Amino acid sequence: MENKTHPLKPHLYHSGVPDIDFQLLAEQGRKNILLDVDNTIALVGSNIIEPEILEHLKKNMGRGFIEKICLVSNTMVGKKRCNRVRKMAETLGSDYVCAGLFCPKPISKPFKSAMKKIDAQPSSCVMIGDQIFTDIFGAKRLGIFTILVKPLGSDSLASNIFPRRGLEKYLLKIFGLREN
Ligand SMILES: [Mg+2]
Repeated sequence: MENKTHPLKPHLYHSGVPDIDFQLLAEQGRKNILLDVDNTIALVGSNIIEPEILEHLKKNMGRGFIEKICLVSNTMVGKKRCNRVRKMAETLGSDYVCAGLFCPKPISKPFKSAMKKIDAQPSSCVMIGDQIFTDIFGAKRLGIFTILVKPLGSDSLASNIFPRRGLEKYLLKIFGLREN
């Protein structure tokens, strides 16, 4: 199951969090979820987790397919941005890590902090996120199973400086990945 291919290639690609089969992941021993925030569970600038996503996560937590969740967000600067993540974590009953300006994803530190917070090893974790160059690349390097989802909406201005969305599209094409 473990994919030893290209470091930028996600193990799975889904159209969104509600399409993820957490029962299957649990059967594979992956019950600990590291979860990106912006454009994965919430729209950029929104203070709430998208209802359909929240419902799917809660349902799978209730059934025991998800043991623990830790939100891992590149909040960069500003307490306000981190408070927003903390509130979403409270809604979920999860932990959270706000990665700062000097150690954002894909640097290993936020992933390692997240695993420490939920007391989990890489082999029991799944990283879910909408960005190949941060979420997927950073987690996969640590041996974490990775799931790429389509972004919920448009990116923040700051993350548009690097033209990664075009590169991501190109990579998905050469990897032959279609969401499932
Ligand atoms: Mg994101």
